[in-house]
Amino acid sequence: MTQSTPAPTDPPAADSTAKRALVELDNVNKHFGSFQALKDINLTIPEGQVAIVIGPSGSGKSTLCRTINRLETIDAGGTIRIDGKPLPAEGKGLAQLRADVGMVFQSFNLFAHKSIVENVTLGPIKVKGIKKSQANDEAMALLERVGVAQQAKKMPAQLSGGQQQRVAIARALAMRPKVMLFDEPTSALDPEMVQEVLDVMVQLAHEGMTMVVVTHEMGFARKAGDRVIFMDQGAILEDTDPESFFMNPQHPRAKDFLGKIL
Ligand code: ADP
Ligand code: MG
Repeated sequence: MTQSTPAPTDPPAADSTAKRALVELDNVNKHFGSFQALKDINLTIPEGQVAIVIGPSGSGKSTLCRTINRLETIDAGGTIRIDGKPLPAEGKGLAQLRADVGMVFQSFNLFAHKSIVENVTLGPIKVKGIKKSQANDEAMALLERVGVAQQAKKMPAQLSGGQQQRVAIARALAMRPKVMLFDEPTSALDPEMVQEVLDVMVQLAHEGMTMVVVTHEMGFARKAGDRVIFMDQGAILEDTDPESFFMNPQHPRAKDFLGKIL
């Protein structure tokens, strides 16, 4: 026995391998008037995790993403922390938060009157104060990474939906976010373009990006997901690994939902 061998009563050796919590939601509720869209959400996403959020239409998936990105406020009494810091109310802190939390929406939301490369450089230049030439170099590297560098000088409308969505991913990455939120990133795409976007997301997951992904793409969930969070009527009903969720869902509403989409 060496001196470092822990006695059986010692707490488990932690910390060197413990991942820090990047996203923490405690008692998060959200009302729109009298309608409750989020019901007592408690959720911790550690660094590097890919969490798949799944559930029927209207279950609160987008609202969850939007509260994490502070596009929606939450009811008093709850807290959301990003990398340990509570969400700021407004002002400069909010701009920094938005830089830390990248978001990709169903509709690509590119700036229609800016070129592809300008779409990617705008945030770093305006929010992060990065020099134009450097922002440009970084944007080109990102566009290369998502496979649309050839289109850099074009306008968004000249690109296919799949290409535009890959630009939207590059634009979010340009802010060097700590976590990326994807809200049904492929559901507005023509079927033949879904895979090219999922491929970029799988690559990102493998590179260790912390991701919250609202999607019904089972192949992606199984390939890249570490965890599946099933929501219904504003609440988290199941929170498990992808294999368990798809093979052996526990909650009756999860079974019912999977029965409809699979
Ligand atoms: P999902 O993304 O799972 O389809 P959402 O988060 O978009 O669901 O919506 C959850 C519920 O909250 C829905 O019933 C929706 O109508 C409601 N909701 C979302 N945003 C608003 C809003 N701004 N005002 C009122 N109700 C809203
Ligand atoms: Mg939604």
